[in-house]
Amino acid sequence: MRRRGAANNPLAPSLPAGIFFLKTCNMTSMPSSNNATSPVAEYFGMVWNAVITTLIGLGVTGWYMFTKPVTLQYPDEKPEIPDGYRGIHIYEKEKCIACDLCSAACPVDCIKIESAGKGKNAVITRYEIDYNRCLFCGLCVEPCPSNCIHMGKSYDLAAYRSQDCAIDFVKLWEERKLQSPSGDVIEWPDTPNPAAPGPLSPQRAHGR
Ligand code: SF4
Ligand code: SF4
Repeated sequence: MRRRGAANNPLAPSLPAGIFFLKTCNMTSMPSSNNATSPVAEYFGMVWNAVITTLIGLGVTGWYMFTKPVTLQYPDEKPEIPDGYRGIHIYEKEKCIACDLCSAACPVDCIKIESAGKGKNAVITRYEIDYNRCLFCGLCVEPCPSNCIHMGKSYDLAAYRSQDCAIDFVKLWEERKLQSPSGDVIEWPDTPNPAAPGPLSPQRAHGR
């Protein structure tokens, strides 16, 4: 579906004045039921109305033909996501210390963390966010002491089964991809050594 122009209302104020003029002509030429009119005058009045309303319709169509389209041909074209958007998380496993502060801050308890040990020596075995329940509120990001959980810009995590919307980021990290039922692939950028310390934020790319 292709939507054009700045508004859906065909009589929006952005339309050229000529269209409103024709519309006014059409309204003033409407025969009144209170006035006695001859059949001939009524006939030509109807013809006039047909011509004017056709011109109004063509004017609206022509106006939107030459305005810049605002609709993206999704999914071939993707919108530019603004900074500060709270989308699907980005999780930096190598910085996580398994302190559970993010999980404790989550108002809907949708973060599940499993690890062997705590602190810098912790081995994270599961970091799962259930997107069936996630509010994308960002409260899990604030308390993180190692700044390793972020709100990303991805938004199109679609699945046919609810369990497919519970994402284990550790598993993603190990497999370095996420295959969704829609065929989208989430891939990590290639790095020389993914296990190396330092910032390594996964970014999403889509392919078929
Ligand atoms: S964004 Fe909000 S609801 Fe989602 S995991 Fe974080 S704290 Fe929980
Ligand atoms: S708050 Fe940060 S460091 Fe602590 S478990 Fe959550 S993501 Fe890991």
